[in-house]
Amino acid sequence: ISVPRCGVSRDGRFVSDSWLRGIVWSAEIKGVVRDVRSEFQHITVVDTVSLGRALILDGALQCAERDEAGYHEFLAHVPLLRRGAPRRELRVLIVGGGDGGVAREILRHPEVEHVTLVDIDRGVVDAARDLMPTLWPASLDADARLDVVFADGCEFVRASPDSQYDLVVVDASDPIGPGVQLYAPAFYEALRRCLRPRGAVVAQAGSYWYLPRVFRTVYHGLKAAGFPVVMPYSCFSAVYPGGQWNLACATLGDDPRALDDENRAAAFATEHALDFYDPQAHVAAFALPPLARRELEKP
Ligand code: SAM
Repeated sequence: ISVPRCGVSRDGRFVSDSWLRGIVWSAEIKGVVRDVRSEFQHITVVDTVSLGRALILDGALQCAERDEAGYHEFLAHVPLLRRGAPRRELRVLIVGGGDGGVAREILRHPEVEHVTLVDIDRGVVDAARDLMPTLWPASLDADARLDVVFADGCEFVRASPDSQYDLVVVDASDPIGPGVQLYAPAFYEALRRCLRPRGAVVAQAGSYWYLPRVFRTVYHGLKAAGFPVVMPYSCFSAVYPGGQWNLACATLGDDPRALDDENRAAAFATEHALDFYDPQAHVAAFALPPLARRELEKP
């Protein structure tokens, strides 16, 4: 599958216009705070007028400080608070996620014993660490449960012994540049193999409206890898086109739409003053419109 490249900053705006069915999205910029080319991609960090500081990779906006919680809370808390999730000594793998947002959310859970974050690009982690403390707070580096590895996530998972993780979060770039392998059948098969018996995978799954091929590729890829349950869901994002984005949760049998304990999830959301996730939002996230469900019926 291929996703054409986005546009890049010009005239004091970040403009993302070349792959959105002709729709132009732009954000006013106050300044560029980093603009470097790493071995893998072009990394830009900008200060926007209304979205806070934002990370752009190869011209595609990855996250912005003001709304990133809408995406990261749903990647982390839906699988960890679902009914059927294991509750003790959890081992979590994050593939991608170098901006730190999903690691920050996962480490809010005391039952998580260890997190390995594997991002291919040290430059992304450096940018988040140096410039985006909302996403990569100092507490991440102080947390002994987190290990950061710079490697190709696909190779890392394929080299992993069987039955290692209770949760794998694929917080990958769109399928352009170094992210392409993270949408391939061999990767999904390796993901299934490295899960512990009650494990789950969550993955960024594009948009049923703007990136339907990515949406279908993730869904069918996980299904073909033998996951008996694959449930796409939605989250809020102000900076991803359309305002909603899709994720997918694959389990070895349990239904991720159900909460383990509604009171516990509500207390968790209150304790951490979450912006987007709570028990009602968990359940509602899985209510996709018929148009999205029809999309999944296509090959
Ligand atoms: N949620 C964002 C989005 O969809 O716009 C993506 C988050 S961004 C932090 C994705 C990360 O995946 C980047 O830091 C990038 O370096 C990393 N990445 C891309 N390809 C990778 C690979 N093959 N292995 C590990 N990390 C990879």
